Amino acid sequence: MAIDFTLPPDVTEVRDRIRNFMQNEVTPTEERLRAGKDTQAWRPALTSLREKARAEGIWAPHMPAEWGGMGLGPVAMAFVSAECGRTQFGAYILNCHAPDEGNMHTLLHFGTPEQKERYLRPLVNGDCRSCFSMTEPDVAGSDPTALRTTAVEVDDGWVINGVKWFTSGARGARFAIVIACTDPDANPPQARNSAFFVECDNPGFHIIRDIETMAGRGNHCEIAYRDCKVPKDALFGGRGQGHRLGQVRLGPARLAHCMRWIGNAETALDMLVDRALKRELHGGVLADKQLIQLKMSESALELYQCKLMVLHSAYLIEKGLPFRNEVSMTKHHVANTLWRVIDRAIQVHGALGYSTDTALESMMKHARSARLVDGADEVHLSQIARHVIECFQTEGSVRNATGAELL
Ligand SMILES: Cc1cc2nc3c(=O)[nH]c(=O)nc-3n(C[C@H](O)[C@H](O)[C@H](O)COP(=O)(O)OP(=O)(O)OC[C@H]3O[C@@H](n4cnc5c(N)ncnc54)[C@H](O)[C@@H]3O)c2cc1C
Repeated sequence: MAIDFTLPPDVTEVRDRIRNFMQNEVTPTEERLRAGKDTQAWRPALTSLREKARAEGIWAPHMPAEWGGMGLGPVAMAFVSAECGRTQFGAYILNCHAPDEGNMHTLLHFGTPEQKERYLRPLVNGDCRSCFSMTEPDVAGSDPTALRTTAVEVDDGWVINGVKWFTSGARGARFAIVIACTDPDANPPQARNSAFFVECDNPGFHIIRDIETMAGRGNHCEIAYRDCKVPKDALFGGRGQGHRLGQVRLGPARLAHCMRWIGNAETALDMLVDRALKRELHGGVLADKQLIQLKMSESALELYQCKLMVLHSAYLIEKGLPFRNEVSMTKHHVANTLWRVIDRAIQVHGALGYSTDTALESMMKHARSARLVDGADEVHLSQIARHVIECFQTEGSVRNATGAELL
């Protein structure tokens, strides 16, 4: 029997340590801060929790030990991220939050030794933050071959010009990884773009605004790169490799989001059940009603699917097997499950769910972006359909398009 769902003891141990830390340290602090409504109190509290996490050896779990991390692979990270997702800032406190987590992975795999020292080292140490600047307001983010930001080679470096938006975490970041077009005539078009490091204090780097989203200002910035000059060694991963680098980055980064979203969705289901057990009507509680039970069972079913999909995708990445199709299916399913579970929880809370008195309002606003970031729903559905057709045409069956090497 090749499949063994028993968790290895080291994964159980790590999960329990992180769970305890989140339950005993992070959740009570967040609850206290939320109740206090003192926005100034958050930063010092989060800094102190980060120091505590580091002292307890639960720091940068996704990074190798030689870089100061815990050296966990994607499967163990699934458990860590799900625990983080049950809190608001757990991932940041452990230094494995987006977009730094994805940027660290990318640097580890594509950075030169000098780039790693300059950018990866301080990132893993928690001495700085970073951002990833690819999407533009004037062209479809779903088709990065159309990017208009250019990087032109000059004698002693490159000059970048263009406008990006939704560069998350830009304000306060030390550097951006910018994807720009270097070779507009390249064939295939995926070879048009290259990646560059741009220091955020570069005189050509201008934050235009922190975009006001439906969830408020989340440091998703619009940025103008105006004659932004960078040295030759700012090129990251080789000329024409911008698309490839983005794809490699997005596999594990998409999955990390999914793992955290599972934690969010479970929190919403906890709230749904708690409310249903307490709300009395017609001589009983809401939880007695079959229609309300249906919301619980559908949510539980979908979350179970999410967990299995995340674990299988994590396994594929960990084993170095092709993962694109499974990660697409997982990303789509988890993002939509998150949305549905929060919606059901709001419904069960009635008017209270529609108010801003519970966390559900904020959770729903944030959850809406899950169906857009890291590839919109339709992009993943198209990829899945292409793979179904390809498998049928080449293998005579869709079997491997419905979960490679599964049943
Ligand atoms: C909260 C948030 C944070 C983000 N953070 C970052 C970041 O840090 N860095 C960064 O570079 N970008 C970031 N993004 C941008 C994100 O990656 C893009 O929004 C996404 O790639 C979609 O691009 P777009 O918004 O230009 O939509 P478009 O590409 O214009 O697509 C619009 C819609 O068209 C539909 N569509 C697209 N492709 C297809 C298709 N093949 N078939 C059918 N329909 C289709 C979808 O419904 C899609 O939502 C962030 C976005 C959000 C909302």
